Amino acid sequence: MRLVLLGPPGAGKGTQASAIVKKYNIPHISTGDIFRENIKQGTELGKKAKEYIDKGLLVPDDIVVSIVKDRILEEDCKNGFLLDGFPRTLNQGEALDDELSQMNLKLDKVININVEKEVLIERTIGRRICKDCGATYHIKFNPPVKEGICDNCGGKLYQRDDDTQETIEKRIEVYQKQTKPLIDYYTKKGLILNVDGTKKISEIFDEIVEALEG
Ligand code: ADP
Ligand code: ADP
Ligand code: ZN
Repeated sequence: MRLVLLGPPGAGKGTQASAIVKKYNIPHISTGDIFRENIKQGTELGKKAKEYIDKGLLVPDDIVVSIVKDRILEEDCKNGFLLDGFPRTLNQGEALDDELSQMNLKLDKVININVEKEVLIERTIGRRICKDCGATYHIKFNPPVKEGICDNCGGKLYQRDDDTQETIEKRIEVYQKQTKPLIDYYTKKGLILNVDGTKKISEIFDEIVEALEG
């Protein structure tokens, strides 16, 4: 299964991605996670990406596209993958299509998670991430059993530098302008699966699975 998760920042892409990849045993490719890992390691890519991420802007297409192209050629992507947070521009969407058609492959579905702006702000500001395993929590909507500690691995939870009110507003604006056109692009291709991202995490997951298998 070759899937894309589309949606504004805070829609719940990463949360659903974790459950989907577990169920279908496919790799989870999150461009945001790849950048955060590179920032943590202090690589050149990380330094470059950070300049954009901290401002709430998109990392330039050429950088992101080459990372994803290389990644989907890896052995573990042979039977499918889940792209989370890529593509984010029409240009990236077209580059992905080109690459897949060269590989004689196609996307199966593009899952589009819809959530309105006010909710997105509350979700991103309350988001907490495990520094060791990357699991995502929310202080109110999806809290860990023990405050500040990851249920999965006992790691410490942290708040992303770009999850501030100001940056999130910028990111939502960038989403409206640069990412939203992809909904139309994939609708025309008959690939879009729209889901209401304001439902409960488990309800959304059940809906996605039903649509993928139905
Ligand atoms: P969120 O989960 O809030 O949607 P991500 O973790 O996916 O955010 O991405 C964090 C940041 O990394 C983005 O705001 C952007 O700066 C950068 N980024 C991630 N994916 C892409 C992409 N496909 N194209 C350009 N920039 C990206
Ligand atoms: P994205 O990857 O789209 O930016 P995340 O999966 O990181 O979004 O979710 C953003 C925040 O909202 C996290 O703190 C997460 O725990 C929380 N969250 C995700 N899905 C839901 C939901 N259906 N209801 C309430 N909170 C949610
Ligand atoms: Zn953890």
